[in-house]
Amino acid sequence: MTRYIFVTGGVMSSLGKGIAASGLAALLQSRDYKVQLKKLDPYLNVDPGTMNPNQHGEVYVTNDGAETDLDLGHYERFTGVAAQQCDSFSSGQIYSDVIAQERRGDYLGATIQVIPHITDRIKEVILLGVNDDVDFLICEVGGTVGDIEGLPFLEAIRQFTNDVGRSRACHIHLTYIPYLPSARELKTKPSQHAVKELLHVGIQPDILLCRCDRPIPEESREKLALFCNMNKANVIEALDVDTIYSVPLNYAKAEFDLQIFKLFGMTPKQEPDLSKWSTFVTKWRAPQKNVQIAVVGKYTDVRDAYKSIIESFIHSGVAHGVNVCVHWIAAESLETKTGQSCPEKTAAALKDMAGILVPGGYGNRGIQGKFAAIKYAREMRIPFMGICLGMQLAVIEFARNVLGLTQAGTAEHKDTQLKLVDLMKTWTQGDTVISRTEHDNLGGTMRLGQYPCTLTPGTLAHKVYGSLHINERHRHRYEVNKDLMGAFAENGLIISGYSPDGKLPEMIEIPDHPWFLAMQFHPEFQSYPFNAHPVFQGFVGAAVLYETQNMLNKEGTQ
Ligand code: GLN
Repeated sequence: MTRYIFVTGGVMSSLGKGIAASGLAALLQSRDYKVQLKKLDPYLNVDPGTMNPNQHGEVYVTNDGAETDLDLGHYERFTGVAAQQCDSFSSGQIYSDVIAQERRGDYLGATIQVIPHITDRIKEVILLGVNDDVDFLICEVGGTVGDIEGLPFLEAIRQFTNDVGRSRACHIHLTYIPYLPSARELKTKPSQHAVKELLHVGIQPDILLCRCDRPIPEESREKLALFCNMNKANVIEALDVDTIYSVPLNYAKAEFDLQIFKLFGMTPKQEPDLSKWSTFVTKWRAPQKNVQIAVVGKYTDVRDAYKSIIESFIHSGVAHGVNVCVHWIAAESLETKTGQSCPEKTAAALKDMAGILVPGGYGNRGIQGKFAAIKYAREMRIPFMGICLGMQLAVIEFARNVLGLTQAGTAEHKDTQLKLVDLMKTWTQGDTVISRTEHDNLGGTMRLGQYPCTLTPGTLAHKVYGSLHINERHRHRYEVNKDLMGAFAENGLIISGYSPDGKLPEMIEIPDHPWFLAMQFHPEFQSYPFNAHPVFQGFVGAAVLYETQNMLNKEGTQ
């Protein structure tokens, strides 16, 4: 029997509802329960894929090709359960589904209203894709209580709770208890107001999860319990953490899970086994050394735009017992005033790096800076990893600077003469035209979601994965055109991974370089704390080696 746990947020945004939901899920999982997480987002965009990473953070891609909110990345990393299309819904999607049904005449001329039509659809999607064997569905409602857009979701979860009964659904409200230095106290009033907002829409939170930077004194807890109409035991402290991966451990200490079992009248199956979490956190807190890695990208001001990459480095750092110090380098800062690659700025920014990563991206801005970084990594023999656009640019950089094909470029950029990277639909191979739909599971314009890839035996890619058949997630429009890569292999850049039909290059590498590997897919979407992604692990390992050898070289020349 599935039980439903709804997570709402109050006082302000960015309190980490996603981490809270994920942390609780991991804790329940550690007692051998099967969990699933879902996110309902109040914004009106139908498709988070089109949202600007500067505003909304990274777009996370699931195996089945959904472009979702970055919280789904946390869900997956904390639980290891692959997120799916049906685990993320926005108001925009809900409204457009209902309006499409109305247009089709499905409502037979009835007046379409928020209640019941929108709320019914929300109740439907809460249950979508949740198998009977799931013990707990944890469903996060995005935004903050009081947001106008969020009201239909709150109304729907209120109704849902009535429908299934209090023994099967509960409400957790994540709130913030600020410390006011002038008063020298933690203030509970904002949380009281947030709960009042919830009560207005008919939801009595069962658990108040309180973000705070110091322990909550007994009398504040009592006050919160009194004003928020709840038992003191259900006011749970969520202290600030040094790493998000300690959240399940802290929740266990706060007996968060026990309160949930009490609410549902359940006897827990077994004691939590959080040993892998504590081992991970212990290792994270005591790295043997630092390793410097540059990320040369476009959205370097907004760390959320590269969330999964950051987490992947944390996982791989722990796997190697090192702390990966990520240096965020705006690609444009490696360009001259007129927008050309600037070797001097590039050398100055990258000379102390033990690894250089060029991540995915779109459009023109900062491209010359990225070329400069790739050239520097290639020539200085610094470990290099390219993701998606990073791979496309690595191929172009090689064409231009090693093969002398100065016209080489990508169709994504205007006025490209030699389109080494192009839209698949414009390709022909022999007599066969490769159409986008042949490789596109959504029928849209992007190649989205998980695709198989076959690696070439004996390559770095093969060594890194330890396997010849891999499955990785994609999110891109353009592909490297292998028909134009005739002269590459003999000059030192090889394709080491193909789509199984042999048509699409998926990985490239430079065998005569200590570690130069780039891929058309996004490995960062499949890195887990207890199973760091092989490519990131290989890259961090190469950076550690590079740093050690360079130290040795430096010592040798003294
Ligand atoms: N802009 C490139 C494309 O659409 C790369 C996308 C990416 O890096 N995710 O193919």
